[in-house]
Amino acid sequence: MNQHPYRRRTISVAVGDIIIGNPSPIVIQSMTTTPTLDTAASAAQTLSIARAGASMVRLTAQGVRHAANLAAIKDAVRAAGCTVPLVADIHFNPAAAFEATQHVEKVRINPGNFFDPGRTFRKMEFTDEEYADEVDKIRTKFIPFLDLCRRCGTAIRIGVNHGSLSDRIMSRYGDGAEGMVESALEYLRICHDEDFHNVVVSIKASDVQLMTDTVRLLVERMDAEGLQYPLHLGVTEAGNALEGRIKSAVGIGSLLIDGIGDTIRVSLSEEPENEIPVARTLADYCELQAAACYHDGVQRRGRSAGRRRTRQVNGIGGTCSVAILGDSESADVYGAEVLRSTGCDGLSHVRRTMQTLAADGSDTPVSIVLSYPDITDRDTLILAASVDLGSLLLEGYRDGIGIESPLLSTAEAADLCRRIVQACGLARYRAEIVACPGCGRTLFDLPSVLEVIKEHFGHLSHLKIAVMGCIVNGPGEMAGADYGYVGGAAGMVSLYRGTECIEKNIPQAEAPAMLEQIIRADGQWHDPK
Ligand code: SF4
Repeated sequence: MNQHPYRRRTISVAVGDIIIGNPSPIVIQSMTTTPTLDTAASAAQTLSIARAGASMVRLTAQGVRHAANLAAIKDAVRAAGCTVPLVADIHFNPAAAFEATQHVEKVRINPGNFFDPGRTFRKMEFTDEEYADEVDKIRTKFIPFLDLCRRCGTAIRIGVNHGSLSDRIMSRYGDGAEGMVESALEYLRICHDEDFHNVVVSIKASDVQLMTDTVRLLVERMDAEGLQYPLHLGVTEAGNALEGRIKSAVGIGSLLIDGIGDTIRVSLSEEPENEIPVARTLADYCELQAAACYHDGVQRRGRSAGRRRTRQVNGIGGTCSVAILGDSESADVYGAEVLRSTGCDGLSHVRRTMQTLAADGSDTPVSIVLSYPDITDRDTLILAASVDLGSLLLEGYRDGIGIESPLLSTAEAADLCRRIVQACGLARYRAEIVACPGCGRTLFDLPSVLEVIKEHFGHLSHLKIAVMGCIVNGPGEMAGADYGYVGGAAGMVSLYRGTECIEKNIPQAEAPAMLEQIIRADGQWHDPK
């Protein structure tokens, strides 16, 4: 089959019966939240996620026992007549990866903690010789793993997360895009040298701008080195409800419309089945937009050059914050030129027009108002507007935005615009709550805890608060949060100020009040208006 010209050229990777890579359709996947040692619950949730429409289901395997139990889960899933490929999620435990490889169709490893000891900040200086020695050691340990995967017909994902880069990588490439890309490339180069090509790669972060820029940098570097591995996309710790959907739509969607990405997971701190319709709508909408942008010659593979330079007019443009149509506290978007665009062609039309303005050397501020008269479903509208406006904001068009739709009142449209601006990291209108989706390691009811935290602390717009399901990955992946609320033993929570644990294993019911006390003592609290 010919590759779609509007998608990045990739090789195809077989994961059981599913093929990932251009020209196969975007593969939608999710992850269980049940304990992996609970065979019945994990099999039931896997079946439920598959019934919701996922083509692949991932389960955490924190130890060899958990990895071994994937065989029983797989048997139960197959006995129910379901062929969905299973994926093992491995951190910190190569032995679990070797075990899982023998039972499931794909194994995800995290280069930040697979052989490297993870993020300890204990050794942050390496001579060239020491550094090369460490890379050699990884090669020596990784090649037998690839050999086993080859023998078992198991695919792998090299899955890098911001927040779990190893000390060695950070010591040389830093904790940002360069570090994440190099962390992935080290492993991909070994796969390539060993002629092992059943590989998918991902780089995720909770900061949408960082995630999209880093994936674009990875694509640039992979293409330069002739590595055509398919990409798995996702925004980590996106949270739940509207915030989780909007962040995911902006991050995943802005890459898909430029032809980048072959499989996606929308990580929501909700029941995993809820992720599937969101991912389906995103994949379908973005495919249309990708084709339209490609045919109009306005796809963008590279990173953004930053905010478009404009002069300030009536409080719009220059360095002013993004003006929002219908927002009484914001400058009026009509103070600038207004570029109004309608329907599915809106995005490519705006990109074309902005390119013409750039070619003419224009510095006139431009507000972009997108109309969606034909979208009749509110959920689709929210995702479509988030993809379109989010990608334009990330691209640098930040003078003013607006949404027009018969489904939204003026106030609702303004609220959606504000949420999209916040998802892009360009302003804070409410507390930035980052939350992991939970997995088999989570020992408390993450969705209900997240609701309590949002209710209690959501008005503190100057703060970033993380809600993480486990102590193993949570603290590392809190992504620069001011305060962290991290699951410990069953029903217990540890509280963090930055990266420092200040209250260990307190009962879940007492934790919000205690976090409030800490925030008050730090002088960071104010009552809701
Ligand atoms: S941080 Fe959340 S999603 Fe990540 S391993 Fe822990 S519980 Fe699972």
